[in-house]
This record gives sequence, structure tokens and C-alpha cells, in this order.
Amino acid sequence: MATSLFHDSLTVRTQSHDYPIIITEDATSKDSSMAKQVAPYIKGCQVLIVTNDTVAPLYLQALEDELAEQFTVKVCVLPDGEQYKNQTSIDQIYDALMAEHFNRDVTLIALGGGVVGDMTGFAAASFMRGVNFIQIPTTLLSQVDSSVGGKTGINHAQGKNMIGAFWQPQMVLADMSTLKTLPARELSAGVAEIIKYALIMDEAFLTWLEENLTAMMALDLAVLGEAVKRCCQYKADVVAQDERESGVRALLNFGHTFGHVIETHQGYGNWLHGEAVAAGMMQAAKLSQKIGWLTLDEVERIERVLMLGNLPTKPPAIDVQTALDLMGHDKKVKHGQIRLILLKSIGSAVVTNDFDNDLLLEVLSQHSA
Ligand code: NAD
Ligand code: MG
Repeated sequence: MATSLFHDSLTVRTQSHDYPIIITEDATSKDSSMAKQVAPYIKGCQVLIVTNDTVAPLYLQALEDELAEQFTVKVCVLPDGEQYKNQTSIDQIYDALMAEHFNRDVTLIALGGGVVGDMTGFAAASFMRGVNFIQIPTTLLSQVDSSVGGKTGINHAQGKNMIGAFWQPQMVLADMSTLKTLPARELSAGVAEIIKYALIMDEAFLTWLEENLTAMMALDLAVLGEAVKRCCQYKADVVAQDERESGVRALLNFGHTFGHVIETHQGYGNWLHGEAVAAGMMQAAKLSQKIGWLTLDEVERIERVLMLGNLPTKPPAIDVQTALDLMGHDKKVKHGQIRLILLKSIGSAVVTNDFDNDLLLEVLSQHSA
């Protein structure tokens, strides 16, 4: 007897339109293929699939061939890597669109991780003043974070994500079976963002993770599907309240100010974003404990969960003054005073500058080496 596979969906509500996130575990099979699931959301007859040279050999052919039965389908394969998340790649997408004389009816499909998703979304936001796009996120991080909420963009030589637009997709298709080919470190990096949602929004979800993280790490697709669904729901709720990040959406940056210091200091790519966020969340938790908001037991509980996800829990050695300088370049500095996202308790986060700087210095001086 066939066991039923995980298949679920939710709706993201935004100012421009509402759209579904479909979470499934078998869209690489013929019966419920990626193409079948996205086709109803393609309006015109033109499709440009944007992907990269790592993901293309894995998942492009089936999607392209099947969509080509119904639509005019072209492909733009970009080089893989954060260093290519730039204007040159956007120009390559525009070139592909222009070469085919595609018009306002075109739908762009992002097939890949957050880098491909952010660039495809930005190209869709700007081509002919905005065309439709669909996200097929293939990393755990992009399934729980970057594909939801409509932030799109590219890097500038002087800073990450400096150029971009808010532009919502027509739908998101998260297929858990694509995670089977994902490198283990990338899986863990996604787990870090999953743990983040539990820490800032829902203590019961942390308990659920404590019971299910081992299965997730062993690629139990149904359990991964459940985790992705919950995270997308948290993010959708936040985005519905604060699409443009003027308030509550900032809480999603928990661990990111500390993490940013690690990423910048170590050079992007040496520590994955999720790894830096994991160590950063521990630093934020420790500061929350020094202030008296978390207990030592709770800090240890957070550390154990991160370790279940094979994530680092301590930053590398970084000189305190250097760390402070790097924090000063973070977007969350208002009027020269560092504002941090800290935990009042597990499941409840606040943005605050109401802490003794000496406690911050103590946290910054603790590291792995
Ligand atoms: P990524 O897109 O670089 O993907 C990580 C690696 O996995 C890449 O080498 C990629 O080619 C490979 N890969 C992707 N899917 C695969 C699969 N199924 N099997 C094997 N390999 C696969 O990184 P990411 O972590 O997905 O995304 C990071 C990017 O997302 C950053 O640029 C970040 O700024 C952005 N981001 C955006 C938002 C947002 O709200 N828009 C939120 C978080 C992060
Ligand atoms: Mg992040």
C-alpha cells in the first residue's frame, strides 16, 4: 500500500496580492511533478527558468521539458555562488528575456537557493516595470526564509543586499525531496534559521524541534515538510503585519548582528550565513542571560538544540574592538547606540538598546579559541 506523502500549503497575505506556498515531498516524481504544480500559476505563455550550474544538472531538465509541452520555455543558467549575486547576473537575465522578445506576460521561475531566488525576484521586479515570478527554493534556508516575504535583490561591491525591491511571487513550491542532494553543511545552515523561529516566536516549537531534529538531520522528508510549513507560517504572519520591515519583521534578524560580525571578519563563505547566525544566537542568548532575562538552563537548552543541528555554538576569536566596529556597520544601529534583538524568554524577542555595554563586552570577549 502506498503511504501518503507530505503535502500541505498555506497562504501568504501581502499588500499586492495573496499567494500560496505549497510544501511537498515528491515533486521530483512524474505524477506530481514541479511542472504540474507550478503550471496553474503561470499566466501567459512565456517562461524563463533561472537557475545555476549546480542545480541545473539536478532538477532543470524535467521541469523544462514538461513545461515546454505547454509554454514557450527558455533557460538562464548563472554561475553558482554569492559572488555572482550582482548586476552582471541580472544583466544576463535581462539579455535572455530580450533575446526571446519576451514581454510583460512572461513568468520567471527561480529554481535554486536564496541566491538564485533573490536575483530572479529582482529581475522580475524590474523587467518591464515588473513581471510575474515563481519561487522553487531548493535549499532548506531558502524554503524557510528567503523565498517567503518578497525581499529581492543583489549585492553591491560595498555591501550585501544593497540593491533590491520588495516584489512578491505568484507562488512558492518547496519540494523536500530536493534536499536529498543538498550538502550537509547547507542543511545545517537552514536548520539554524528554523531554530531561530522557535527562539523568537514559539517555545512549543523548540520542544518539537528537540524531539524531531534528529529525524530532520537524517532527511525524514515528512518531518522536514512539517518544519518548513511551520516556519513559513511564522514568516507569513510577520510579513502580513510588517511587509516593509518597519517593526516586528526586524525580530527575524535575531542572532544576525552578532552573526554579521563573524561573517564579515572571517570573509564571506568561510562561515556559512546559518553557521554565523547559530553562533550569533548563542551570543544574543548569553547577553539575554547576563541581563537576567534567560536562565543559565535556558541558554544551555539553546546550545543543545544547535548542537543537534551540527551547528557551531561559539564564535571564532575576534578582537572585541574589531567586533564592536563591525557591529557599528550593522543596519540596526540607531543614533550611534547599538540595538540588538534579545530574548525576554524563549519564544519572545525584543529589539532593545537597554543593556549595560559592559555585559556586551563580556559576551564579545568569549570565543571558541
Ligand atoms: P545558495 O543559494 O548559495 O545555495 C547554497 C548552495 O547550495 C549553492 O552552492 C547552491 O548552488 C547549492 N544548492 C542549491 N540547491 C541545491 C540542491 N537541492 N542540491 C544541491 N545543491 C544545491 O544559498 P542559500 O543559503 O539558499 O541562500 C543564501 C542567500 O539568500 C543569500 O544571498 C542571502 O542574502 C539570501 N537571503 C535572502 C532572504 C530574503 O528574504 N530575500 C532571506 C535570507 C537569505
Ligand atoms: Mg538569515
